[in-house]
Amino acid sequence: MLTRRGFFGGAVATGAVAAGRTVADGGKFVEPARDLPVDDWADVIVAGGGPAGVAAAVAAARAGAKVRILELQGCLGGVWTAGLLTYIFDFNKSETGWEIIRRLDAYGARVVDRPGEEGMRYYKRGLDKDWVYEPEYMKAVCEDMCAEAGVRVTLQSPVTAAYRDASGRNVETVVTESKSGRQAWRAKTFVDCTGDGDLGARAGCGFDMGFGPEGWGQPATLNALVVVDDGDAVARGGFVSNEPAMWTFLDNPETGKPTCHHIVASHRLKAELRRAGLEPSYGDPTLFRFHRNLFCFMANHEYKLRVDDAQAVSDATLRARKEVLALAAGLARLGGPWKGFRVAATAEQIGQRDSRRLHGRYTVTRDDVTAGATFPDAVTTSYFGIDIHGLDKKANDIRAAGQNFGVRFRPFQIPLRACRAKDADNLYMAGRCISGDFYAHASYRVTGSSVAIGEAVGKAAACQAAGQA
Ligand SMILES: Cc1cc2nc3c(=O)[nH]c(=O)nc-3n(C[C@H](O)[C@H](O)[C@H](O)COP(=O)(O)OP(=O)(O)OC[C@H]3O[C@@H](n4cnc5c(N)ncnc54)[C@H](O)[C@@H]3O)c2cc1C
Repeated sequence: MLTRRGFFGGAVATGAVAAGRTVADGGKFVEPARDLPVDDWADVIVAGGGPAGVAAAVAAARAGAKVRILELQGCLGGVWTAGLLTYIFDFNKSETGWEIIRRLDAYGARVVDRPGEEGMRYYKRGLDKDWVYEPEYMKAVCEDMCAEAGVRVTLQSPVTAAYRDASGRNVETVVTESKSGRQAWRAKTFVDCTGDGDLGARAGCGFDMGFGPEGWGQPATLNALVVVDDGDAVARGGFVSNEPAMWTFLDNPETGKPTCHHIVASHRLKAELRRAGLEPSYGDPTLFRFHRNLFCFMANHEYKLRVDDAQAVSDATLRARKEVLALAAGLARLGGPWKGFRVAATAEQIGQRDSRRLHGRYTVTRDDVTAGATFPDAVTTSYFGIDIHGLDKKANDIRAAGQNFGVRFRPFQIPLRACRAKDADNLYMAGRCISGDFYAHASYRVTGSSVAIGEAVGKAAACQAAGQA
């Protein structure tokens, strides 16, 4: 039984807290300055432990640097895990990518597309470029790799501020906010892998955001894991995008023309949702199967969101969760293959397809995409075509995903210069916040490129920290 003495036993007096000051008109509060504990153990600090961050941290540690990841969520993996993504594009092109493939296979946690003969021409870069994985095992793979490489991982500690040294050219200290309070961290080099460019933005680096003056990006999506009584029955109905493989081309019953199986499957699923009297906000609602009766359900779109508007992102998340539950309940009501269809979990974070793109020493543009540009300091090649999701519900209803806004695509390279901040000498970027325009980003944003970029940038950050760059 908890006694009064026991209850108060753990309490520690915290001392007086300085009063802040409210600016005269009441619209602003001035926070008092305070001393923070500083940790300067790391040579390289990686902000954000998603696909790019894990790859960067592991590569930097293997190159001999002492590396710490500061991560907002309670797990590594970013959109892969906290975002419950489950589908992978353009992956078979980096050492770290192949290692992740091998490790997932060892856990039996990967489903490779089987395209059949007619689909094989879309897999000319190999079956391992696109596949489905189980998110819980992806967490384990990210954690195993970091632990084995000696990366220190600090979870639930978002970077909330960044300060420069006296020269003004280098990031010197970043600040996190967690259950430990505010903490300061120092390193020789920093890598912004927050997806949203938080570290760079806090350090005062320039950035672009989304499309058009409002900075609204591609729509965001709250993914969910769903269960059903008979997964085979759902697959037999032709509703599952990865069965047969995503890029298998079959005659589309709607048009009579050969069409990618994913589109056919998602239109069938949409028809079922409509039969249940529901209209999904995403024009191509999708089911990926990764275990017998267990699927990823990607059916929602939230339009016109800016990642730096916390209230708008919160409202969108709550709206999205309600929608996903309603869509699942609607399918379950239809019975048949949908018997027992239920949401097992919604993602911890709504998935942002794009947000801040920090300014680098080079900006990858639509012209580079059209030209299939190559660079002497290339870190990887993006083979994934431009994939813009309709920016509002009307555009999404006409064509939900895969829009290219008239930009012709050729595989193009990404130079290291696009991953090094223009406005700070010791700050690199990896993943979707590197320096590119809206169109180039719509290609390199997928996780295969994020990992490949992360690996190269991690090595570069370690070299610079060791005084070799
Ligand atoms: C709905 C959706 C569907 C997609 N579909 C596919 C697909 O089918 N296949 C594919 O390959 N790609 C897909 N993508 C793209 C892909 O998931 C992302 O572009 C990819 O995750 C980028 O990796 P990243 O590491 O740059 O960012 P993220 O995965 O976003 O990781 C960023 C990490 O930083 C952390 N973080 C954020 N802010 C802070 C902070 N201030 N301090 C510390 N940590 C912070 C986050 O918690 C996260 O762990 C999709 C994306 C979305 C949103």
